[in-house]
Amino acid sequence: MDERCDVVIVGSRLAGATAAAHLARAGRRVVVLDRSHFPSNQLSTHLLFPSGVHELQRMGALDGILASDPVKSPWLSLQIGDSELNERWRPSGPIDYCMCVPRTIQDIELVRAARAAGAEVRERHRFLGVLWRGGRACGVRYAGPDGTERSIYANLVVGADGRRSSVAAEVGSFRPYRSSRNGRGLVFRYGQDPLVGTRAGETIYQFWEGDSLGFLFPSAPRGKALMLFMGAAEEASLAKSDPEGYWADKMARHPRMAARAEGMTDLTPLASTGATSAYFRASSGPGWVLLGDAGHFKDPVIGQGQRDAMWSGRVLAETTAPLLDDAAELDRALRQWEQRRDRECLPSYHFGNIETRVEPVAPVFAELVRRSPSHPTPDLGDLFGRARSMPQVLSLPRMTAGLVSAIARTRAERPESLSLKHTVRDLKVHLGVRGELLSRRFRSHVLVSGSEHPHAEPPTYRAAAARPGGRTRTTRDERPATPPDPAGNGGADVPKTAPATQHKPSPAPRRGAASEEVPA
Ligand SMILES: Cc1cc2nc3c(=O)[nH]c(=O)nc-3n(C[C@H](O)[C@H](O)[C@H](O)COP(=O)(O)OP(=O)(O)OC[C@H]3O[C@@H](n4cnc5c(N)ncnc54)[C@H](O)[C@@H]3O)c2cc1C
Repeated sequence: MDERCDVVIVGSRLAGATAAAHLARAGRRVVVLDRSHFPSNQLSTHLLFPSGVHELQRMGALDGILASDPVKSPWLSLQIGDSELNERWRPSGPIDYCMCVPRTIQDIELVRAARAAGAEVRERHRFLGVLWRGGRACGVRYAGPDGTERSIYANLVVGADGRRSSVAAEVGSFRPYRSSRNGRGLVFRYGQDPLVGTRAGETIYQFWEGDSLGFLFPSAPRGKALMLFMGAAEEASLAKSDPEGYWADKMARHPRMAARAEGMTDLTPLASTGATSAYFRASSGPGWVLLGDAGHFKDPVIGQGQRDAMWSGRVLAETTAPLLDDAAELDRALRQWEQRRDRECLPSYHFGNIETRVEPVAPVFAELVRRSPSHPTPDLGDLFGRARSMPQVLSLPRMTAGLVSAIARTRAERPESLSLKHTVRDLKVHLGVRGELLSRRFRSHVLVSGSEHPHAEPPTYRAAAARPGGRTRTTRDERPATPPDPAGNGGADVPKTAPATQHKPSPAPRRGAASEEVPA
């Protein structure tokens, strides 16, 4: 028999479980479908800054995660050339530390927290298609663990199903309206950290050596640490063909990281990826919304995806819980939620685009690190901790002072990356981000000069096969790009009564999952 609930969510990790927990606490009946069986892994380096840990606490998963005894890291060490910045992280609410908890440990606690809040989370349940009524999403079809197909009707359909979102494909929004190709790839492994229990063992490290980036994060359970290199994206295939040769070469190029990592034991095999293009998809429409990576992804070089997925899930719940019974009001709120998400995420999107370029650190930033005070008061770390946005941390007067000071150095002392071209381009990005935020354009195709890199590769679409067992087939999405917002302007201009009909559901994918119109 078909069922009904207030909200059906596809995907039960950062975005989906967080939205589910907050909606259920607000008294809504929420059903979450996930094809995974938890504990379950996910390709990620899973660093969370204090604002992300704070989101875990708000949604109710933090206590469960702390029971696995992760290292809490209240310190940041940023090392560029011979300069070193050491800061504490600025607290977010009561949280003043970072965590880096493997997804096998973390995500099952998200599921538990969503259940404890009253949401019904169904594992091994595969989304098959969106149900439509009068052009409005009104539920989903799914296959249970035994392959039986069922339907569930809801006032709101939430796609929180990650970068290869089938829900995005079903609502015709898979192809991003804006994207940027990643320059860097990721290669990482874990080891057993001999410095556990010391201050170094509770510090998040970032090492710049020329154009190559190295990171070291204390992890979980206590004693484990994650070591990560982010060089050019092509390095991911080198790491696959000769893992230990690649690792030895990178360590030789990163002597300070090698010194920190000395004595690590129990090294795990390398994991890697070179495909992390950033994007924005149109993320709301009549009766549907795309949360977390399903709607927006930014380069992992700045480690913000998990926090933003939880933030957007919480804000969605706060915005929509009281409006779920009024379709027009709900659609208006969904659109406003998307506008708010964009304002929250755009500065980091552009910051990620700057950091993913395979070139030495921005010269002005290197200078700011060089000039940083020796006391550990939180400051530049706010760029990652999100206590302040990029335009707030890198204010124009501060950047100008950094530039003047870099130029004033003797030729021998100047940052190797200090070139007029590099500096002018960075300045343009910073001005462009400010301009974009001020303009309040919505779903804008106007690119910020110097930020977006062309030829981004969006994730491939894997249609859910509508047959028992729900096996997947891989197909490349061939739909036309989602059109820009016809009004092309910002949140302030949304008409009060407008149902968000600008975005029509597209025809069913060529194979696999199929949209279905149900009688009124
Ligand atoms: C290599 C890499 C490193 C990263 N490092 C960091 C980092 O250090 N810090 C950070 O904050 N972020 C990092 N990120 C980003 C972060 O991993 C994501 O932003 C985050 O996982 C997004 O969460 P989500 O809930 O939106 O989606 P996901 O975590 O992708 O979860 C989607 C869920 O949907 C389910 N699902 C998918 N399709 C279906 C279907 N058809 N039916 C049912 N269920 C379905 C999946 O099983 C999955 O459980 C990294 C990303 C990558 C790729």
